[in-house]
Formats: sequence, structure tokens, C-alpha cells
Amino acid sequence: MIDVLKRPFVSGTMHWHKNLAVTTTATARRFKGNGLPDHPTGRFPVQPGTPAYQYYAEIPAHGYPNAAAIPIKPWDLDVTVPRNPSVQAQPTCIDQLTTGMALAGGTFHLEVATDAQDRPVDPNAALPLDRCWGHPYDTQYHYHGPSQTCFGSKPPRVSADSPSRSPHSPLVGYAIDGFGIFGPRGEDGKIVRNGDLDVCHGHTHAILWDGKKVVMYHYHLNGEYPYSLGCFRGKPVTVPGSGHGWH
Ligand SMILES: [Zn+2]
Ligand SMILES: [Zn+2]
Repeated sequence: MIDVLKRPFVSGTMHWHKNLAVTTTATARRFKGNGLPDHPTGRFPVQPGTPAYQYYAEIPAHGYPNAAAIPIKPWDLDVTVPRNPSVQAQPTCIDQLTTGMALAGGTFHLEVATDAQDRPVDPNAALPLDRCWGHPYDTQYHYHGPSQTCFGSKPPRVSADSPSRSPHSPLVGYAIDGFGIFGPRGEDGKIVRNGDLDVCHGHTHAILWDGKKVVMYHYHLNGEYPYSLGCFRGKPVTVPGSGHGWH
């Protein structure tokens, strides 16, 4: 087992102009944007001489000399999910790279990669990521691992003038089945452990959903594998233009 905290981060700093419009109808929620984040990322292409370079340079990449040469570029993110999804009788396995959209502008990817022997591995062990636990695949910037560190998902402070505010982490994104993705804190304000969550990395209790308190299934991000989604509890849509490939 590789200690992901001991491998380097992708160094450097790049700033981006996020463009993400989230619109709703009675039954649908649409995400239209450029896939770029509102927070700084590491420097991509990964620069020779930086600690992460060797990891990327060893991986072949379609259209580039190797994975180190892949830049972050805007793309046509246009995904429509159910606005009020329902839990299906059986969970659905993840069979595409993109698993959700972060309100920060990037996307979440499947937490499985393959090593040189084609064995499934935690992508966080396979490649260094930037300090927001993100990197580009096929030029699309996406997250793995404890990405919540860049989403400002500390619990809101409960004070005399806002006594009704919940210690639960705020919504940070939506899965492609329409369910919400929240930061790492549960109803009691404590970090949720995998033991508190089901196989898809979610659970059900009252949450704030489009301004109303409803009892609803939702996913949590935390620092334990698979960090984000393990499967879908709702019916996932297909993401047009989502990459398929090495991770
Ligand atoms: Zn929760
Ligand atoms: Zn990736």
C-alpha cells in the first residue's frame, strides 16, 4: 500500500476563469460550463525537474508524448441530471470516468486506475495530484481523493444570529445521478467515516435541497477510499465528452 500523503504534489500555480451555470426546471438540473475550476491548480503540463514529473513522464497519453505533457483546457461541459432523483433498488456500478460535477467548476472522476500490470489501483497512489487533489485527463480538470480541502467545506459556525444553521458540510457538487455531494462533515459536525456510509459512499437524512429541508440520500466526500462515489444510488446519465482511458 502506498502512502498517498508521502508522494509529491504537482507543484506550481495556475489560475482559471470558471464558467458554470446551473439551471433548473421542475424535473431537471442542467450544468453548462467550461470545466475549469474557480481555485488555483498545480502547473500542467507537469514541468521537467519538478517532483511529480517522473511519475507522469512514464505514462503514455494519446496525442501527447506522455502524460506529463497534458495541459488543462476548457471543454463543453453540458450535463442534465434529474432534479429530484430517487434511490434505485440496486446500486449501479460506475462505468464512465466522470461521476459528478463540482460547484467549484471541475468534475469528479472514478476512483479506480490501472497500474502497469493492468491491476486496479487507487488513482491517488498511481499519480501525484495537485494540492486540490486534481489533474487533467484528456485536458479535462478533475478531482480524486480528498478534494474537499479546496471547497471550503468547513461547517458553518452556529451563532446566536443563525441558530438554525446545520453543522453538516455544505453541498459541493452533484453526482451524475442527480444526488448531492457534500463535504466531509455529517449531521453532528464530525467527519463522516466510511463506516457511517453505504457502499456508494452516501447515506440518508434531512438535508437542505433547493432551499428546503428534505430527507434525502446524498454522497459525502471524506479522506477514506473511495473518497467520493463508490457507485450510484440513483440512475446515472451519460456525460457527453467525458474521457475514457487510463484513469
Ligand atoms: Zn450527510
Ligand atoms: Zn484522474
